[in-house]
Amino acid sequence: MFALKRYTEDLINLLFPELCNGCGKLLYHGEKDICTKCLFDLPYTDFHLYQDNPVAKQLWGRLNVNAAMAMLYFKKATKVQNLIHGLKYDGKTEIGITLGKLLAKKVIESEFYADIDLIIPVPLHQKKMRTRGYNQSEYIAAGLAEELNISVSTKYLLRDKSTESQTKKARYTRYENMQDVFSVIKAEELAEKHILLVDDVVTTGATLEACGNILLNNGIKKLSIAAVAFAE
Ligand SMILES: [Zn+2]
Repeated sequence: MFALKRYTEDLINLLFPELCNGCGKLLYHGEKDICTKCLFDLPYTDFHLYQDNPVAKQLWGRLNVNAAMAMLYFKKATKVQNLIHGLKYDGKTEIGITLGKLLAKKVIESEFYADIDLIIPVPLHQKKMRTRGYNQSEYIAAGLAEELNISVSTKYLLRDKSTESQTKKARYTRYENMQDVFSVIKAEELAEKHILLVDDVVTTGATLEACGNILLNNGIKKLSIAAVAFAE
């Protein structure tokens, strides 16, 4: 059976070769979604090792966060952009799982994330869910959850208002625009929990600020943040 399975896999790979989502080169046996060279070369931030890192600092005075980190630097025309683009716009949800597992390794290495109770991905608005078909952050969260052995839930934090046309707005306007976008239900079930909020790319921090504050205002014990990438 094993030989047959291996043979079938080889045949499928021959007919439909799997390519690395970072560099586009052929993947070898045992490689999945991202090749070994890309995994090694990715621009890791090491933000998980210190609490006063750029992502955490960006949130100072805006959100009472225990720890915040992003794993990679996001820049245009790079492997990181290829990965995020594939995940968000090409339906390659498996990249999210792989990135989530990679992110989990950093989280495990960090002393600040030791007592997480529940993982919550930043929600997408329903309109966007309908056009895209999925929330990329849920896949990152699923990869994290698998590796950390902690549950994920999308039932507590909801996105009520669409904020699609706001990318070009200034930070202050974006912040104003983010108020009342999110809501929390069944808050009593979150009481005394250390929540890990998960996002794909941190830019201004406005989304994390809004999500984080609504969670804290609803009585969670502690909030931490982990994202795949940070766009400076
Ligand atoms: Zn590669």
